[in-house]
Amino acid sequence: MAIERTLILCKPDAVSRNLSGEIISRFERRGYLIVAMKLMQLDGERARKHYAEHDGKSFFAGLVDFITSGPLVALAVEGENAIEGCRQLMGATNPLKADVGTIRGDFAQSIGRNMVHGSDSHESAERELAIFFDAKDFVTRKHDLERWIIEK
Ligand code: UDP
Ligand code: MG
Repeated sequence: MAIERTLILCKPDAVSRNLSGEIISRFERRGYLIVAMKLMQLDGERARKHYAEHDGKSFFAGLVDFITSGPLVALAVEGENAIEGCRQLMGATNPLKADVGTIRGDFAQSIGRNMVHGSDSHESAERELAIFFDAKDFVTRKHDLERWIIEK
C-alpha cells in the first residue's frame, strides 16, 4: 500500500475548451482525492522551471508558450499508487498512441495540445508539487483515505 501525491494540470487547452471538469471527474471517479486545487496562469519563469527536463529540446519554446497562454487548473491528487494510476488515466503523450477511454485518447488530437499533465515519478511529483503549491494549500483527507482507499 503506497499512498502517493501527484501533480495534475488541466492544461490551457482543457480550460479553454471547458473540459477541465470532465478531466477532473476522471480522477475523482477513479477514487483519487483532490487535496489542493488552483486556477492560475503561469508566467514564463514558473513554466520553464516546471518543464526544466525538456529545456534544450526542439519543442521547449512552443511548450512554454502554450502552457503560459491561458489559465490552467493545478491539482494535487492523492491515492494508492496515484502517480502511475493517474498516468494510466491520462494515456500516452501522443494522443494518436493513447487508448480510447483515456483523457488524451478521448479529447486530444495532437501531442502539443494534449490536455493534461501528470508527474511521472516520485521525484517529479515532489519537485513539481512544490512549484505549484505551498504547504498551507493542502487539506487533509485522512478520513476519506481511511474510509474509501486504505484496505483494512
Ligand atoms: N511535447 C511536445 N512534443 C514532443 C514531446 C512532448 O509538444 O515531441 C509536449 C507534450 O505536450 C507533453 C509535454 O511536452 O505533454 C511534456 O513532454 P513529456 O515527454 O514529459 O510527456 P508527458 O509526461 O506530458 O506525457
Ligand atoms: Mg512528462
